[in-house]
Amino acid sequence: MNKTYTVHELVGMFPAGNWALPAFNVFNMEFVQAVVAGAGQERSPVVLMLGDPVLQTIGLDMLIDICLSAVSRATVPVAIALDHGKDQARLEHCIQRGVSIMYDGSDLPLVGNIEQTRLWTKLAHQAGLSIEAEIGSLGLEFETAKGETALAMTAVEDCVAFLEAAPVDLLAVAIGNYHGPYKTPPRIDVARLKAIHEAIGDVTLVLHGASGIPAETVKQCIENGVRKVNYGYDLKSCYAATMLAELQRKPMPFQPPEYIKPVREALTAVVRARIADVGSAGLADQVL
Ligand code: 13P
Repeated sequence: MNKTYTVHELVGMFPAGNWALPAFNVFNMEFVQAVVAGAGQERSPVVLMLGDPVLQTIGLDMLIDICLSAVSRATVPVAIALDHGKDQARLEHCIQRGVSIMYDGSDLPLVGNIEQTRLWTKLAHQAGLSIEAEIGSLGLEFETAKGETALAMTAVEDCVAFLEAAPVDLLAVAIGNYHGPYKTPPRIDVARLKAIHEAIGDVTLVLHGASGIPAETVKQCIENGVRKVNYGYDLKSCYAATMLAELQRKPMPFQPPEYIKPVREALTAVVRARIADVGSAGLADQVL
């Protein structure tokens, strides 16, 4: 497949139904290969996500090259997207290289978030790319009047005002989800999601922090407007645990293929399971 799709194009190219795009954070060639292999085996479109903060260490350009190389070999439609973009230089660089962006201004006051998102929306759209934004801070905790800890949630009215001023293609919302392992079972506010979906119409909603959210809840989110589901920790923990187990074998394997192959196979199995959760298996064959 030669074309790299934008995330927005991928959302729009399949028949309507209860499915969402699976999106995975990738960090090196094994991650990228496993995600594209798993998607190919399940005949699902997929999004390769480059997480902004870690790119400083990992190397943005080379990771984009690896993703592009995987796209050219893929048998299903793939998009590449910057995840939680905050750094101006990296956002600009992704746009130059044809990578869809997420601009994350969620730690700014709403007005500042809207202002910045509007600028990046203009730049992304001028380049023919799609843009995702975030309203409400994922995992941000505050103390209630009763002295209990609660998660900050996205307000419906903020979404409407935000989209009027900054017409992004995809919107990430905080509905009880957060990144990384859940310390207590996730309590996802599906009613809030439904209200946001009804208020904003066709704008694609994104569920971040999906590792650890039960498949049944992910399904309910999809039934209420979510069209992209982000997974990171599921793959990261699988990578580390499998690598550790492989390197603890006696004698320790020193030939990289001896441990890279099982790591990649374990990652591919996780990718396939998450694709089953979001209901996107088989979609690729409906358009190719
Ligand atoms: P998890 O790592 O919690 O799955 O979240 C990933 C994510 O939302 C990336 O933006």
